[in-house]
Amino acid sequence: MLATPGLQRIAALAPATYPMPVHGQDGTLRAPEVAGTEAGIHTAIDEALLERNPDALVVTDADGCVVRWNPGASAAFGFTRRAALGQALRELIGVADRAEDWHRVVSTTRRNGTARTETVARRADGTLMHLDIITRRLEDVPEAAILWCSRDVTGPKLLRAALQLKVRYGDLLESTPDGMLLVDETGHVLLANGHAESLFGYGELHGQPVESLVPSKFRADHPEHRAGSWPRSTAAGVELFGRRKSGEVFPVEVSLSPLRTDEGPVVISAVRDVSERVTAARRLRALLEAAPDAIVITDGQGLIVLANSQADALFGYSRDELIGQGIELLLPERFRQVHVQHRSGFVAEPRVRAMGAGFELFARHKDGREIPVEISLSPLTTDEGILVSAAIRDITERKRVESQLQDQNLELARASAAKTTFLAGMSHELRTPLNAIIGFTGTLLMRLPGPLNDEQEKQLRTVQWAGHHLLALIDDLLDMTRIESGQARMEPAAVDCIELAREAVGQLQPQARSKGLDLALELPEGRYEIHTDRRALRQIVLNLVSNGVKYTDQGQVGVRLQVDTPEPGSVRFTVEDTGIGIQPEDESRLFVAFSQLNSGPEARPGAGLGLYLSARLAQLLGGRIEFRSQRGVGSVFALTLPGGGPWLGS
Ligand code: ADP
Repeated sequence: MLATPGLQRIAALAPATYPMPVHGQDGTLRAPEVAGTEAGIHTAIDEALLERNPDALVVTDADGCVVRWNPGASAAFGFTRRAALGQALRELIGVADRAEDWHRVVSTTRRNGTARTETVARRADGTLMHLDIITRRLEDVPEAAILWCSRDVTGPKLLRAALQLKVRYGDLLESTPDGMLLVDETGHVLLANGHAESLFGYGELHGQPVESLVPSKFRADHPEHRAGSWPRSTAAGVELFGRRKSGEVFPVEVSLSPLRTDEGPVVISAVRDVSERVTAARRLRALLEAAPDAIVITDGQGLIVLANSQADALFGYSRDELIGQGIELLLPERFRQVHVQHRSGFVAEPRVRAMGAGFELFARHKDGREIPVEISLSPLTTDEGILVSAAIRDITERKRVESQLQDQNLELARASAAKTTFLAGMSHELRTPLNAIIGFTGTLLMRLPGPLNDEQEKQLRTVQWAGHHLLALIDDLLDMTRIESGQARMEPAAVDCIELAREAVGQLQPQARSKGLDLALELPEGRYEIHTDRRALRQIVLNLVSNGVKYTDQGQVGVRLQVDTPEPGSVRFTVEDTGIGIQPEDESRLFVAFSQLNSGPEARPGAGLGLYLSARLAQLLGGRIEFRSQRGVGSVFALTLPGGGPWLGS
């Protein structure tokens, strides 16, 4: 039965269907069926007080397990009633390093009936807060239950601490060049200097959870890291990032140190924006990676500080295995000791250079294999002193090709020698019967064996001409093989150029006359001797004049000898004709062996060897052949032998 209407009204405030679990002796939770009884009305009042109270109200039993959990507690801690009931309160919301606070509160409450403390508590989402707790021992409950009334006092606590810290450290913080943040144990910023606020783009950083200054993808882990041991600085090799208010993420370097204050432990964190350094490092890395060679950079002590992936591939070590190791790791054991001396030598006098010039260099793969390499070294001057960059090229393939080429060259040299011997032998074999043919044809033409009729003489002259032509061809071939095999030996002697020019022109005069051409010779006054190979010079001049005559059908062929042209001491033979000329597109083939440019009616007898041989011989004499030509107008070929040789005077 309900006692009074007042009590009934209060009872009505409590939801009738609300389960009111009681923690039983056996450890089970049960809902007592008390509705409608007087005890039920008192319970309803208690319930209303509990349910409508904005503070976090929790009742724990003798074991510290939650038996009551009001909506205020759900709002404050983020755990639903269902999640909280039956859990040990200290483990649910307490933080490990403040366990002492909880033990003290429980024992004081048991002893004095009440206690008050301020501690740090954790919400369901992991965030921390400052909690002001007042407890009361529940006398009328047999199981030594405790009522916990708590309130989140993070805001006022932070403000109080911030004010205190600002008085003591404000000026100091402002004077440091880094972004400085003082963070309290709940992970809220207490105080920040202007650098930090502009770095993160906040007008006011006080009260911000530090997690908001960390990019969202690292945020979840951060409270855990934050709870780690102090002091420390950015872990080496770990890239850290900050997050500006705008959402922009940037690389940072952070160093952390603890500070004990009256308001509790505080962490000072110095944050530096290292975007520029990271960009520079990234560029350097990109540069290293783009290089075709393996690159290993060492410090002044020869320890590897950087290596590109080509180096990983070449040596078979991972980047982590290489960094921090001495560079000698990458050398065959037998070179290691002497290398240390070379290395210090380089650091003492650093300059870009190839390593071990003239020596074969070898590197050592992780598996012990030796790799032939080529190495170039360059010093890099940095803030941390001299670094040495070694670009290492694996030349295994090149070595293989080189030795293959060497073998092939030997083979070729052998073949070429065989060819030369063959040709020399052959030309001798050919010459002997050919000389017999020419000789006996001459005897016949001289009518020594008896008279000839006209037809016989005509045919014998054809035989004689063909014989001479064949002989010339054999001579040319022999010359060619001699030149190509490097066996053409020049025998310089005093050569009278005027006499030589006269002789050549004289020899070709009959041919010119038979074509009705005017073969003219223009000579300087006096006698001009130069020191050269007479046979070679004669062959060149004869060839140029004979080409002039051969490729000219009417007009004239002029041969001119000039001395001291184009420079003092040099000699120039010029052959100018009014012949068929050369087409510009044929010019490049002019001096190529066996190339004849004319066909059809313009074709002339010849093997296409004359100019080739002339140019090679001119080269052997230290001279050159130049030409200019116009199709249908004529050509000019000039042989120049330079000065400088012993000039025997005029
Ligand atoms: P060839 O034995 O055919 O004369 P050369 O090596 O002496 O061989 O000359 C190569 C080619 O250059 C000739 O076939 C000819 O077409 C061209 N040539 C050489 N000299 C002259 C010239 N004076 N005028 C026109 N063409 C020439």
